[in-house]
Amino acid sequence: MDGRAVAAKVRERVAEGVRALRKQGIVPRLSVVLVGDDPASAAYVRSKARASEELGMQGETIRMPGTTAESELIAVIDRLNADPSVHGILVQMPLPKQIDPDVVRRVNPSKDVDGFHPVNVGKLLIGDSGGFVPCTPAGVMVLLREYKVQTSGANCVVIGRSNIVGKPMAALMLQDNENANCTVTVCHRHTADLPSQTRRADILIVAAGRPKIVTGDMVKPGAVVIDVGTNRVNDPKAKSGTRLQGDVDFDAVREVASKLTPVPGGVGPMTIAMLMANTVRAAEMAGR
Ligand code: NAD
Repeated sequence: MDGRAVAAKVRERVAEGVRALRKQGIVPRLSVVLVGDDPASAAYVRSKARASEELGMQGETIRMPGTTAESELIAVIDRLNADPSVHGILVQMPLPKQIDPDVVRRVNPSKDVDGFHPVNVGKLLIGDSGGFVPCTPAGVMVLLREYKVQTSGANCVVIGRSNIVGKPMAALMLQDNENANCTVTVCHRHTADLPSQTRRADILIVAAGRPKIVTGDMVKPGAVVIDVGTNRVNDPKAKSGTRLQGDVDFDAVREVASKLTPVPGGVGPMTIAMLMANTVRAAEMAGR
């Protein structure tokens, strides 16, 4: 499954939305707050700003030193919450040790384009489509829809129960609508016999952060396999000495699965595209 191609489609729709808003004098604006200088986070933030600009939106990055106190970050979030020209706010994770990650709950739910605020989490769980859904699981849903994967009645197994990927992913697959309607099993670090669970899956979604945790013998023939994992592993053949590796053993699983996402080029591009879509939606809802 080609995440780059589907993400390009999503971005086209987003660009249309931006053009319509601009006609009304509204320029969607995404403010990303980066605390510290973690190189991976800095790269993510750069690609989010670039994507915003490419689509005709404003992408602002607020950089704060790694020594920032929680109260200083809260002050910045409060300022962005109060600024009517800011439609989306994203606090890049991970945060330095001295800052409680729950600080993201300070973001106004109507600007919470990451979908991490408890109000948006609650809306997702009760099937209220008015909230924001976390970008990675939302992107997986679009991929499944674009590839016309039959979800209704399917057994879906999700590996991982994080608040960012696993739990919202399971909640989405469980929704009462024809693009979901799955029987969902969530596996995690304490799951007793992982292969016996995964072999029952018609749709297997892997977000464990463990390179090649899913091998060919763990997959039911014909299953659809979505690999969310992005692990940086050493590779002496690569120029940089490292490369990205998914949670799925791609070469082995492609022999068994009917559809499979690669890493890179699968779920990753969808995440940024969905962030852009959420930001345009925030601007549409704000109407200013
Ligand atoms: P996390 O570390 O917060 O959660 C991992 C989950 O996997 C945990 O719930 C844990 O119980 C489970 N797990 C770990 N080892 C396991 C095992 N051996 N068996 C069964 N379950 C196991 O990670 P996360 O934030 O949910 O991210 C998961 C992966 O997805 C990471 O590789 C991350 O880099 C990647 N990710 C990719 C994107 C993207 O855009 N492609 C976005 C977010 C996360």
